[in-house]
Amino acid sequence: MILVGMIIFALIIYLIYSENSNKCTCETENARAKCYNCGHLIKDDFVYCPKCKVALKEKCEGCNKLINIAWRSCPYCNTKRADL
Ligand SMILES: [Zn+2]
Ligand SMILES: [Zn+2]
Repeated sequence: MILVGMIIFALIIYLIYSENSNKCTCETENARAKCYNCGHLIKDDFVYCPKCKVALKEKCEGCNKLINIAWRSCPYCNTKRADL
């Protein structure tokens, strides 16, 4: 009976461990950044935060590409953002 209990225990530990490692990979793949306003996890290509609806990206005046709102200048054409 002790052996059966140990096997079940090991199985439970294995299941918890594999579930956690799967979850970890998923989170690091999908959500690398956090919203600067509310801290909600966001994807790199999100334009608006799904939680607090704040704008995360803005169109560059020089090349019209969407750039991170925290950046002081555009990495594509080096135009400085007017409101910073
Ligand atoms: Zn937010
Ligand atoms: Zn630009």
